[in-house]
Amino acid sequence: MRVLGIEGTAWAASAAVHAVESDETAIFTDAYRPESGGIHPREAAEHMREAIPGVVREALDHAAAEAGGDSAPSVDAVAFSRGPGLGPCLRIVGTAARAVAGSLDVPLVGVNHMLAHLEIGRHRAGFDSPVCLNASGANAHLLGFHNGRYRVLGETMDTGVGNAIDKFTRHVGWSHPGGPKVEAAAERGEYVALPYVVKGMDFSFSGITSAAKEAYDDGAAVEDVCFSLQEHVFGMLTEVAERALSLTGNDELVLGGGVGQNARLQEMLGEMCAQRGARFHAPEPRFLRDNAGMIAVLGAKMAAAGDTISIEESRVRPNFRPDEVPVTWRADEDV
Ligand code: ATP
Repeated sequence: MRVLGIEGTAWAASAAVHAVESDETAIFTDAYRPESGGIHPREAAEHMREAIPGVVREALDHAAAEAGGDSAPSVDAVAFSRGPGLGPCLRIVGTAARAVAGSLDVPLVGVNHMLAHLEIGRHRAGFDSPVCLNASGANAHLLGFHNGRYRVLGETMDTGVGNAIDKFTRHVGWSHPGGPKVEAAAERGEYVALPYVVKGMDFSFSGITSAAKEAYDDGAAVEDVCFSLQEHVFGMLTEVAERALSLTGNDELVLGGGVGQNARLQEMLGEMCAQRGARFHAPEPRFLRDNAGMIAVLGAKMAAAGDTISIEESRVRPNFRPDEVPVTWRADEDV
């Protein structure tokens, strides 16, 4: 079985083919890079419109080559990121997915983008039922599986973690995305005090971003602010991840999302897990940042469970929360 995945929630116009039997995933991505500022929804949608046909063509050509001239359709289902994400981008991806599924006469699968970030970690690690820390641009939350759904155990009360970092880097005049630049600068930095805001299982980043901007404006070295931003933000995420493991009694943690590429965040989470005898897995970078591979992998599990949608039902969901999704692909598990 081969599944075509199409991703386009914000910056990554991406298509992938996941071959279930060999567990191989080929990913083709055309990234939107804003000339200045952050992600502009209209420009991002224009990028999707221009780039999606090309990446889908590459993925379908790859699938056809793998099928080796078989007369059957080279993919057995089409999965697409249904949300959450920017509405104008999602609508272009939804239209492309419906058109390809319709013309190949194969089922359509609507995938929750945040659950795809989680499931790719579970899939790659071979973990049973991990807690997942999603650390992405527009989101930050902890998810755990209970009674047929992924429950939100804790989440940001304001901005996503990547957006919090990117707002600081825009303030100092660095181009998008800011996360990798903060990571590089932090290597030469020293500690300055910033707020640390954890409330139970939830957390907040907006005050830290404002304080980081203020510290920079007041003359702190940018390397010091970057170092401290990472220590505070990632310390908070590690604290709530540990609390989630402790409260659920779970001993597996997976990381998801573009900020998950950060070596310091991986180090903190890895140390915390080692200290409590838990296993930790961070997927390889191509599966952490937005990518269609994770959409194809989860799409294949959903298709195998018969979790497909008709074209009439397939409207996109810009505010699609992960806990709204009945987890059909784990229906046989009594947890
Ligand atoms: P979402 O998945 O919530 O829709 P998104 O569409 O913004 O988020 P992702 O690819 O998951 O996309 O994450 C992008 C974010 O990751 C950006 O904010 C970027 O700055 C951040 N990022 C990328 N690399 C690093 C890094 N090495 N360290 C910290 N942050 C990083």
